[in-house]
Amino acid sequence: MTVTRQTFDQVMIPCYVPQDMVLQRGSGCYLYDTEGKRYLDLSAGIAVNCLGHNHPEVVKTISEQAQRLIHVSNIFVNDKTLTLASELTALTGFDKVFFTNSGAEANEAALKLARRVAYDNFGPKKDEIISFAHSFHGRTLFSVSVGGQPKYSTGFGPIPGGITHLPFNDSAALEQTISDKTCAVILETIQGEGGILPIDPEFLVKVRHLCDQHHALLIFDEVQTGVGRTGYFYSFEQFKDLDGGKGVRPDIMSSAKGLAAGIPIGAILTTDEIAAHFKPGTHGSTFGGNPLACAVGSVVLHTVSQPEFLAHVRAMGDLIKTKLNELNAKYHCFAQLRGQGLLIGAELSSDYQGQSSTLQKLCTKHGLLVLVAGANVLRLTPPLIITPSEVNAAMELLEEALQEFTAQ
Ligand SMILES: *Cc1c(COP(=O)(O)O)cnc(C)c1O
Repeated sequence: MTVTRQTFDQVMIPCYVPQDMVLQRGSGCYLYDTEGKRYLDLSAGIAVNCLGHNHPEVVKTISEQAQRLIHVSNIFVNDKTLTLASELTALTGFDKVFFTNSGAEANEAALKLARRVAYDNFGPKKDEIISFAHSFHGRTLFSVSVGGQPKYSTGFGPIPGGITHLPFNDSAALEQTISDKTCAVILETIQGEGGILPIDPEFLVKVRHLCDQHHALLIFDEVQTGVGRTGYFYSFEQFKDLDGGKGVRPDIMSSAKGLAAGIPIGAILTTDEIAAHFKPGTHGSTFGGNPLACAVGSVVLHTVSQPEFLAHVRAMGDLIKTKLNELNAKYHCFAQLRGQGLLIGAELSSDYQGQSSTLQKLCTKHGLLVLVAGANVLRLTPPLIITPSEVNAAMELLEEALQEFTAQ
């Protein structure tokens, strides 16, 4: 059967407007379309393919595990799920894991767990979830309603109640709003889809204090910031010295995207005390934590958690930022560079407002795959294994695209 980009318009529900080519295979940081054209990939399946495409150890693990065991459901346990759960808890200092298939499902589980903890401890009135403007937590009705981008939840009502949105990094607004009715505050340490907007550490300390004061749980959505993306295995590790050395830790953390290098998986991590509120039958998943995904998850964890690997992520992030600054000195196209490690946002300058998709298309034309975060931000989330020469090659392609973009 021959398929083309037009096939998408014929048979796919039009939730997306994909770029013009049809991708067929990948290797390392490169992707190839059905016509053999090569693309340098700075999107990595939206911060998912952390080890690039067709990583030999990932391929080997998938084929070996497929020959052994793919799926058994959670009414049985299997060796790979228990192994990844043990490794993740040991690495993060949490006690317990629940596995899902995606980030939205992980947040759904986190939010349901927070509601159940409040219900058990304080009764049904403590149900308020506080989240922040521009946040993104997934596309299930609950997670999308909690997310702070109304355009994603409009038209799907009635949406779940008990959700309050506040401006991000605004301590005063939180202090005024949080109360003993609040059961959880959920946040991203760097808002990814919202435009690569980092949290203010002082605000974070305030959030932790206010949550403690009102017996509300603090949930970190590390779906995009996790698994090495920021140069830490989970971004919250960098907050261990905040608050006069006490550190700031979440009560529940969600993870997904890069966790199994492209095989669908998600997870929440929490403490024994909180986990005890999910009793047998209160929550579940058919596929979540299947042995295939978990076997790959262990490979990712062993590889990405190495200090040298994380140092490489930080170094490549610095190199990209240096190169972007050089390009900006020439083309004056960016107002600000933001982000950490290999989660990078370049906000377009005032001359180019609303044109991130135009720039993205030009990049594709020149053989470079990039992401956007809204209409004004170019977002780069390359495979974490990207090399200095690949960064240089990518920045040459970006320059070609920028030449055309700024000439228009
Ligand atoms: C991508 C993302 C999600 C949703 O993950 P899915 O796997 O698409 O359900 C949730 N939260 C954040 C911060 C994300 O970046």
